[in-house]
Amino acid sequence: MIPAPFEYARAGSVEEAISLLGSDADAKILAGGHSLLPAMRLRVARPSMLVDIGRIADLSYVREDGDRLAIGALTRHHDVANAEALQQLCPIVAHAAGQIGDPQVRHMGTIGGSVAHGDPAGDLPAVLLALDAEFVAQGPNGTRTVAATDFFTSLFETALAPDEVLTEIRIPKANAGWSFMKFQRRAQDWAVVGVSAVRANGGVHVGLTNMGLTPLRAAGVEEASRRRRGPRVRRGTRRRGDRAPGRCVRVRRVPPSAGEGARSASARGGLGIALLAQDPIRYSRDWWIEFAVAIAISIAIATAVSLIVGRYVRRYRRRTKETGDDVEGRRRRRLTTVVGLAGGIVVVIAWLMVGLTILRGFNVSLGPLVVSAGIAGVALGFGAQTLVRDTISGLFIVLERQYDIGDVVDLESDGGVVSGTVEALSLRITSVRQFDGTLSFVPNGAVHVVRNKTRGWGRAIVDVRVAVAEDAGRVRVVLEELLEQLSSEEPFESALRKNPEVLGVVQVTDAAQVIRVAAETEPSRRWEIERELRERITARIAERGIRVPPVPMPQRGSEPDA
Ligand SMILES: Cc1cc2nc3c(=O)[nH]c(=O)nc-3n(C[C@H](O)[C@H](O)[C@H](O)COP(=O)(O)OP(=O)(O)OC[C@H]3O[C@@H](n4cnc5c(N)ncnc54)[C@H](O)[C@@H]3O)c2cc1C
Repeated sequence: MIPAPFEYARAGSVEEAISLLGSDADAKILAGGHSLLPAMRLRVARPSMLVDIGRIADLSYVREDGDRLAIGALTRHHDVANAEALQQLCPIVAHAAGQIGDPQVRHMGTIGGSVAHGDPAGDLPAVLLALDAEFVAQGPNGTRTVAATDFFTSLFETALAPDEVLTEIRIPKANAGWSFMKFQRRAQDWAVVGVSAVRANGGVHVGLTNMGLTPLRAAGVEEASRRRRGPRVRRGTRRRGDRAPGRCVRVRRVPPSAGEGARSASARGGLGIALLAQDPIRYSRDWWIEFAVAIAISIAIATAVSLIVGRYVRRYRRRTKETGDDVEGRRRRRLTTVVGLAGGIVVVIAWLMVGLTILRGFNVSLGPLVVSAGIAGVALGFGAQTLVRDTISGLFIVLERQYDIGDVVDLESDGGVVSGTVEALSLRITSVRQFDGTLSFVPNGAVHVVRNKTRGWGRAIVDVRVAVAEDAGRVRVVLEELLEQLSSEEPFESALRKNPEVLGVVQVTDAAQVIRVAAETEPSRRWEIERELRERITARIAERGIRVPPVPMPQRGSEPDA
């Protein structure tokens, strides 16, 4: 198309250009014309006047300025690409300028035009943004400097006023490590997306091309690099044809990570090139020292926690052994159970933190690790199911107070019944000491039935065998007389909750009759009372001449392992 009519004026100096701009509100600067003229032909831009600054020779230079480099706004891309100062001291700028368009574009287009045009698809704006460049603008009121982060305001819009001329671009010297990549459909095309990375301030500065309305900084990537690592600089990894000397950081294609950039890139069908630039300096001395210190601290904390918790739990368990069946004893047993359980959880968390510190040190993210574990993950899942089942069961055992440490229990599981005293209870397993001293470990999830023999009260039961010819009534009187005496003696007085009673004849055979005696006791003392009762009753029967059958009948026993 043919552009709309316009005036043309050539400026011999920056001051003249400013004055011409002031004379017409719709005037525009013309530099290389390689963005403005195509826009005018499409009638996207319709300036009433073009102020041509293309021949102001003063604005074309590259020079060192202390710890910075200054580039004149009219410096052509070709000259930027070949400036020795840039190649040596800020190679990414020289390299990126060499990637713009074709030789014709590079010989006409200017760095100032690229910046002032405000096109997010331009190669240099993202590079300059990553470098924290400064832009010098001159207007009717003098000169001002605008930081790159404040310069690009929206699509094709910048902080430049209509009557201001961009005169200079200032950049830091940055040759410690860099990378520049762009994705194009065809050679010499504009970037579909691009990324620039520069090593600076102990981290990486990352600029994104064409991933938003303006050039963007990949803040997430930069933050990650600052927190843990800088890029490992690989010497000699420049590709053939790169004229800029220096060193490249390794880059990889990954989904973009930074806010608006990520959204815009995904709008392009996920074609984002983002940069990890995080090839870690984990092999550097500093990294190893930092890592070793972090691990040492976390291991020291975990060890201290384990020792302190272990000490307290052992102390509580010791005290529990000395407790009785009274309210205070039961309270202590409960406390020991809860302390043991909580202590176990604290110790596990402390060591998990050590593991996490190691994984974080190597920047291993647990989420993807678990997801990518594939078959191993499934296997782990099955294993974890049992673990989860045991843990949940353990939690309910404690919450529902099914048993505490020190209780005498029967635990019925698929493997049979385990009877004994609970010595330890963790979320996963219960340790039961059997009466012969064997210590059994029962997974909490495997227990179907719990029989707690020390909860509430117990009943001592003794079956007394006498000859069938004996008068049962007489025997009853003898037994009742004995039980009456015993109830005020030790150990009966402290162990009995109710006076023992003679229940009567419960079995008769050819040779014997069985008379049952029962007594309600403190829960854990029933066996002791049974033993005492048997002894005393046997002695009294003998003393009173009551006959017993010659052939012993099997005695009913209620001891836990009988
Ligand atoms: C075929 C082709 C391929 C291209 N490929 C690429 C590519 O791959 N990568 C890439 O980054 N670019 C590419 N470009 C664009 C090229 O780099 C342009 O030269 C550049 O974007 C604009 O520079 P210019 O000097 O031509 O500016 P102009 O087109 O003259 O001006 C552009 C805008 O900036 C303003 N302006 C210019 N200079 C100043 C100043 N000093 N102060 C204030 N305002 C000013 C103008 O008023 C105008 O609005 C390509 C262009 C073409 C035609």
